[in-house]
Amino acid sequence: MRIVVVGAGLSGLMAARSLVSSGHDVTVMDKGRSPGGRLATRRMAGARLDHGAQFFTVRSAEFRAHVDAWIADGVVHEWCRGFTAQDGHPRYVGTDGMNAIAKHLAAGLDVRCDHLVFAIRRDGDDWQVQTDDAVDHQADAVILTAPVPQSFSLLFGAGIEMPAEMRGTDYDRTLGLLAVLDSDDHSVPAPGGVQNPDDTFQFIGDNKAKGISEVPALTFHFSPAFSEARFDADPAEVHAELLETVSPWLGRAGVVESQVKKWRFATPRRAWPEPCWMAPGLPLVLAGDAFAGPKVEGAALSGLAAATALNSMA
Ligand SMILES: Cc1cc2nc3c(=O)[nH]c(=O)nc-3n(C[C@H](O)[C@H](O)[C@H](O)COP(=O)(O)OP(=O)(O)OC[C@H]3O[C@@H](n4cnc5c(N)ncnc54)[C@H](O)[C@@H]3O)c2cc1C
Repeated sequence: MRIVVVGAGLSGLMAARSLVSSGHDVTVMDKGRSPGGRLATRRMAGARLDHGAQFFTVRSAEFRAHVDAWIADGVVHEWCRGFTAQDGHPRYVGTDGMNAIAKHLAAGLDVRCDHLVFAIRRDGDDWQVQTDDAVDHQADAVILTAPVPQSFSLLFGAGIEMPAEMRGTDYDRTLGLLAVLDSDDHSVPAPGGVQNPDDTFQFIGDNKAKGISEVPALTFHFSPAFSEARFDADPAEVHAELLETVSPWLGRAGVVESQVKKWRFATPRRAWPEPCWMAPGLPLVLAGDAFAGPKVEGAALSGLAAATALNSMA
């Protein structure tokens, strides 16, 4: 089959690799400048910082097999086995940042970045997938891995009904602050991660301690309530407030450079009970972390489930 996958996040890339290995002709379209979606890593003032997902865990045997292969390829490494307490569960990170996992998966695939898919429509037995470069791409099957509200608009345009409970899928927003520091003299304790320390912060990550940056650099993610209250406020005011808010964690270190990052669709508030959804009677599958769980592992398993669903039709 000719298959178009919308979204080069983890879910779309896992689906694409699985389908290519089954012999399909797969094209992945992403509106972003590079693959990865919420697996996002940025370079700033000589530092490297993860600004989307910070680490991941493994619970299923299916994901375990993929992660073991990534470890063997040097793409991921174990960071620690717990933050405030050791619970024995490994936390993994991309060796060159979380985005490196996406780059690894995208290698050898036909991934077209800077391609916003704005419409899909049925034309006989074909799909016509329209991108913002005014090109129509023909496909036998389509996988949509964007956050559900974005996939909804594509389904709506195609006259395909989405189940009402799925249509209501909402996402928490996350504000982030990336800060490159002039020393290691900050207050984030070993092993370099602080999870939900209070109502303000969701996660604080030390990019140097986790092994992705040679230069001291912290990533701050703010809680859903804190983020929501400031999400649409004046950017300069938000930046100043976030710098003030993180100051107790900076210790004696100074900020060399900082940036605010906003995630509108950070975390789905509830998961669809199936790992993907196939439109009744059509070769069209919805996948992503809203289906198999709002984490790296959920996104990966959902992409694999979407590939299995299409393979069962071929
Ligand atoms: C701030 C933050 C912190 C997180 N921390 C963790 C963590 O520590 N551990 C963990 O396990 N998980 C974490 N997560 C969750 C994890 O990042 C996600 O579950 C996972 O990366 C989602 O992958 P996905 O492929 O489903 O979606 P995405 O990564 O969002 O991929 C969807 C892709 O679709 C593209 N797209 C959307 N619409 C279109 C269109 N119309 N045309 C073309 N392309 C389109 C987007 O550009 C995007 O690249 C975090 C997420 C955020 C935002």
